[in-house]
Amino acid sequence: MTIKEAQEAVDRWIKEYGVRYFSELTNMAVLTEEVGELARVIARKYGDQSFKEGEKDNLGEEMADILWVLLCLANQTGVDLTDELQKSIEKKTQRDSLRHIHNKKLLA
Ligand SMILES: [Mg+2]
Repeated sequence: MTIKEAQEAVDRWIKEYGVRYFSELTNMAVLTEEVGELARVIARKYGDQSFKEGEKDNLGEEMADILWVLLCLANQTGVDLTDELQKSIEKKTQRDSLRHIHNKKLLA
């Protein structure tokens, strides 16, 4: 699935089952909530915490939750994420093409 196809799939789902997009502000709050859920899993899995009884390692599920609401926000604000990601890659390449290669901390 391409990013464009993902944006279209989310849009179809919202129109068929979601009635309408939540407001941008609500989706921003939901995005923040989902980032927190991902942080909790990472703290348990890679950090010093352990999973509580009943909790599961659902790293991918939480990443998908974040992607879902980001795709919603892109659709409702008219952002073409394929185009924006391409521009972001180009920006990072121009800005950081030598930065990390010369970072001695990354070689340790
Ligand atoms: Mg979640």
